Amino acid sequence: MTVAHAAELLSAARRGLALTGAGVSAESGIPTFRGEGGLWTQYDPVKVASIEYFMADPSAYWKVSKDRGRVALVARPNPGHHALAALEANGHLAAVVTQNTDGLHQESGSRHVIEVHGSSRTVQCLDCGNREPRREVQARLEVEMPPRCKVCGGVFLKPTVVLFGEPLPQAAIQEAFSLAHEADVMLVVGSSLVVYPAAEIPLVALRYGAKMIVVNAEPTPFDELADVVIRGKSGEVLPEIVALTGG
Ligand code: NAD
Ligand code: ZN
Repeated sequence: MTVAHAAELLSAARRGLALTGAGVSAESGIPTFRGEGGLWTQYDPVKVASIEYFMADPSAYWKVSKDRGRVALVARPNPGHHALAALEANGHLAAVVTQNTDGLHQESGSRHVIEVHGSSRTVQCLDCGNREPRREVQARLEVEMPPRCKVCGGVFLKPTVVLFGEPLPQAAIQEAFSLAHEADVMLVVGSSLVVYPAAEIPLVALRYGAKMIVVNAEPTPFDELADVVIRGKSGEVLPEIVALTGG
């Protein structure tokens, strides 16, 4: 029983660590990049979600981002997010490292969340540095394209996400890797594990002796390294694991 084995490992964990990807938010209605139904099949995210594309034409960037923002702003945490929050509350996880930018882990009650690709909930002006909630910029998109900075009128308003071609937030990356060093159980959920350096995090945990559990809808390149592989939806599998850890 793979779910039972995963629950057993997490129950015994002293320094459990989760790494999550877009798959965790799929059941909240936010499309993944890769995998079935992923955005990759509609357009190339490496192009439209790159810093070069944004700087060359903020309007073109925001035309794509407008639709995604509309979906993401109404998305609510799903049972997978809540299960991860419960694992932390019950002492089975020390932290969640996420590649997601949607803020749903925090909304579901996870306290120690490390966002290695930034957050799409805030927008920052690259000219004057002013920050605004994404929600407010989203409302302006209906009448203004590209959206302009309320303070300086600049047109380079960028969500505080890491676009392709941008450096990762160093403090978050360092914290993620030091948690991986210390981890005794590594739970990877909803990630295709092809985006580096995030995918390196479970490899570091393994090298320092952690057991690894992979929960994903489709095969990943690290399945053969894992102690437990569960093929399924995180919103269904994670609550089952929580139930078997005793709540
Ligand atoms: P990915 O899109 O590359 O892979 C998602 C994986 O999740 C796939 O392997 C898919 O099979 C699996 N999956 C789909 N639905 C699932 C479900 N219900 N339960 C379990 N697994 C499921 O995602 P990634 O590895 O996070 O890398 C993509 C990059 O895009 C990330 O860097 C992230 O920053 C960004 N992104 C973020 C969001 C978000 O914030 N919600 C959404 C899309 C992309
Ligand atoms: Zn400004």
